Amino acid sequence: MDFSRNDSTIILGGGLAGLSAGFSLVKAGHPVAVLESGPEVGGLSRTIRHGDFRFDLGGHRFLTNNIRTEQFVKDLLRGQYLTVPRKSKIYMNGKFFDYPLKPSNALFGLGIPTTVKAVSDYGKEKIKKLFASPEHISLEDWVVAHFGRTMFTLYFKEYSEKVWGLECGNISEEWVSKRIDGLSLGVAIKNAFFKFSGRRVSTLVDKFIYPTLGIGQISERLKEEIEKKDAVLTNTRVSRINHRGPVITNIIADNCERQYDVKGSEFISSIPLTNLLKMLDPSPPGDILDAASKLRYRDMVIVTVMIDKPRVSDLTWLYLPEKKMPLGRVHEPKNWSLHMAPEGKTHVVSEYFCFKGDSIWSSTDEELTSMTVQQLAKLGLIEMDQVIGNCVIRVPHAYPLFEVGYNQYYSKVVEYLRGFKNLHIIGRSGMFKYYNMDSAIETGRDVAEIIIQNSRFIIQG
Ligand SMILES: Cc1cc2nc3c(=O)[nH]c(=O)nc-3n(C[C@H](O)[C@H](O)[C@H](O)COP(=O)(O)OP(=O)(O)OC[C@H]3O[C@@H](n4cnc5c(N)ncnc54)[C@H](O)[C@@H]3O)c2cc1C
Repeated sequence: MDFSRNDSTIILGGGLAGLSAGFSLVKAGHPVAVLESGPEVGGLSRTIRHGDFRFDLGGHRFLTNNIRTEQFVKDLLRGQYLTVPRKSKIYMNGKFFDYPLKPSNALFGLGIPTTVKAVSDYGKEKIKKLFASPEHISLEDWVVAHFGRTMFTLYFKEYSEKVWGLECGNISEEWVSKRIDGLSLGVAIKNAFFKFSGRRVSTLVDKFIYPTLGIGQISERLKEEIEKKDAVLTNTRVSRINHRGPVITNIIADNCERQYDVKGSEFISSIPLTNLLKMLDPSPPGDILDAASKLRYRDMVIVTVMIDKPRVSDLTWLYLPEKKMPLGRVHEPKNWSLHMAPEGKTHVVSEYFCFKGDSIWSSTDEELTSMTVQQLAKLGLIEMDQVIGNCVIRVPHAYPLFEVGYNQYYSKVVEYLRGFKNLHIIGRSGMFKYYNMDSAIETGRDVAEIIIQNSRFIIQG
């Protein structure tokens, strides 16, 4: 198959964003080539197969407010999906609390003095707002304003610091305000008492779509559709992006067998933004590279243990906010779809948030598995002698890291990239945005639509 034509659109990265762009272009009759460095497609939304077990890199629920995107995913899955009820808990102070917060345990389960303090702190913030609307710069500012300081310290501080590896005063408010937009202590209480509060807050939605064979099924279906006409090359890493002034001319990509020199007319990148800049040849000016070096990502390690027992919980997710427990979040894939584990067995997937090269990232697989098994046993989920297997996956660039002040560097980099006439950035790592799957899909589709429109204009013109 000739995937390097002068009129092809070359797509860097075969995650949901890149594949959605490829899918839309192929359906409109445009030639594409998708280049993916991993052995399979799906990126962060892939499903790992380990013997008869399947698991996502941290359970992925599909949820969207966009009807078109929901229908797109449903059509793609051709009925092979489930609607899964969400039931999650947080483990704190040796107890399991319901998540989303219910007033009965979030407030009243704390003991009367703490409850009174939490409510009065929240009241104080409400009164403050009547007199001035303060600027919220950090996550800490935002959460204190919406939930009060007591609730911030109890429910947000440790978990946020675990996820981001930064003090809450250094994490930009952008992450939390977008993620739990519309949620405040008042709304959380209303949601707990009344099933429907009149406003859909996505953090609190209690049902979601899940493909029968794991979230990776969405990407696999996209790949199948693209491959009916064009190429999706896995194990193929882009290493250089050549340009002549504002025009990308070709890219160099390698797999273990050969090097490709790939030409095209349009280039779409969903690979981490900071890596894209380093690959440009000639290199961007020093101040742009300097700005890019200030943008960081948070990485992850996923440790899965296979258990000789039909089920260990009935939970969708279990959150572990306390810093004394290195584990961040846990899920049991069988509670998402029964097809994720063989009959009579189950597995537990544990997420560790870390930075590439730190002590978690650099621990051996044996050390990580042993630490995980001990923690899961401590939680009462498993017994050590029930473990029959393990699998450790290191996931770079899991989250763009929104440090206070990151925006000035980000804007500079994006402004520079806008200068290229035929380069488009899409997706979560590609755009350095905290995008969920629905937004990643939409960024790919939107760019494809622009390319299709422009080519019509050129043909007609
Ligand atoms: C732990 C976790 C849980 C999540 N849970 C949810 C959830 O419940 N619901 C939800 O909607 N979203 C969730 N997300 C977000 C979701 O995973 C992302 O929104 C989505 O997968 C982003 O897709 P993408 O294509 O933009 O990026 P990616 O998936 O990062 O795709 C980029 C691709 O580029 C490839 N690549 C990188 N460098 C190169 C190179 N040099 N050459 C070629 N290819 C390259 C990568 O291998 C990757 O496949 C979660 C994310 C994480 C980390």
